[in-house]
Amino acid sequence: MKILIIGCGGVAQVAIKKCCQADDVFTEILIASRTKSKCDKVAAEMQGKTKAKITTAKVDADKVDELVALINSYKPAAVLNVALPYQDLTIMEACLKTKTHYIDTANYECEDTDNPEWRAVYEKRVKEKGFTAYFDYSWQWAYHEKFKKAGICALLGTGFDPGVTQVFSAYAQKHYFDTIETIDILDCNGGDHGYAFATNFNPEINLREVSANGSYWENGKWIETEPLEIKREYNFDGVGNKDMYLLHHEEIESLAKNIKGVKRIRFFMTFGQSYIQHMNCLQNVGMLSTTPINYEGKEIVPIQFLKALLPDPSTLGPRTKGKTNIGCIFTGYKDGKKKSIYIYNICDHQECYKEVGSQAISYTTGVPAMIGAMLVIKGIWNKAGVYNAEEFDPDPYMEALNKYGLPWKVEENPVLVD
Ligand code: NDP
Repeated sequence: MKILIIGCGGVAQVAIKKCCQADDVFTEILIASRTKSKCDKVAAEMQGKTKAKITTAKVDADKVDELVALINSYKPAAVLNVALPYQDLTIMEACLKTKTHYIDTANYECEDTDNPEWRAVYEKRVKEKGFTAYFDYSWQWAYHEKFKKAGICALLGTGFDPGVTQVFSAYAQKHYFDTIETIDILDCNGGDHGYAFATNFNPEINLREVSANGSYWENGKWIETEPLEIKREYNFDGVGNKDMYLLHHEEIESLAKNIKGVKRIRFFMTFGQSYIQHMNCLQNVGMLSTTPINYEGKEIVPIQFLKALLPDPSTLGPRTKGKTNIGCIFTGYKDGKKKSIYIYNICDHQECYKEVGSQAISYTTGVPAMIGAMLVIKGIWNKAGVYNAEEFDPDPYMEALNKYGLPWKVEENPVLVD
């Protein structure tokens, strides 16, 4: 079957290489991105290593008409969006116009948060929702009826987190609990790339996420915190002791909607002191701003300029050593008894590099992106409308994680986070 993959950055390159491994399913792949030379480079790298027929194209995914023309000329079974969250709505719109299934790894964000039209909707949603993050699912969920009527499926957020963490939640619900009371999502990166400061995925998206207010869901409402206000320490299997900080994260919103009876959901990510010091300093001097400034007659966006200075995440592979450990701790009840389990995956940066030439953050996102696309186009995870990962049967996805490089473990009675 034909797949159109949009974007050719760190995550996309892994998704493309994993689709090439599953060439019994993905017989033809079109890689389309803003910079076509990157697509050509990956296509050349895969020559002779896969039976899939790979072609490339240039596309500006901010433009619905360009996307529609590309989809109409290629006629893919599905579009996998691994460009940036800024392009989610234009790509969804093009999929709707061409009646093509849609898959992505991150929820919609507006690139220009000063845009008055977007701002008006945002301010209203802040009041309704109770968190101030610039991203939320409402923009994409609003397409549900339209996708349903068109008979096409949108699978949102099939990376690791969001993505696998929600599949873990559905799996825990299906096989281990009658009621899940709490979910703690722990995202630990024990890898070291040797730079004083670099981000493991797109710097703009990463720094916007980490420097924003934190929040968690408790007893039916959102509780907001200052950025990185809540800190805990945890001893991660395969990594060791790490400091982790509570962040706002998009899957909390969909899990709160779809895991019935859940009382609290939190998300923690590990950061070293060097990362935090650099980020605070950059924020204090205005380098994380998305508002354009005029510099010597030229308009520049500070965070985009910063991105140009930082190492490209897709080049971190050869120098990153260590492991990631990402998973969820669940507490709840089964047959009237209280219980807790921890489902997690450990991934080794250097093993990923050996296999696909990328570090583990791109790997742990690109593999689930491929798995989600595979389940949608095979019709295993496919229903008309817009859905998040926990709304499907988790078993085929969990099986595919084991098969395609992200094996997971279930630990009973883990150490809980206070
Ligand atoms: P990169 O910045 O490395 O890659 C983004 C790619 O999208 C680049 O190839 C870029 O083109 C392309 N692109 C950007 N704008 C356009 C446009 N207008 N038209 C066409 N192509 C465009 O990002 P990552 O690979 O690190 O991240 C990709 C996605 O994965 C992001 O949405 C990120 O949020 C998500 N992610 C999800 C995770 C999860 O666990 N769910 C974890 C990590 C990331 P160019 O080469 O010209 O810049």
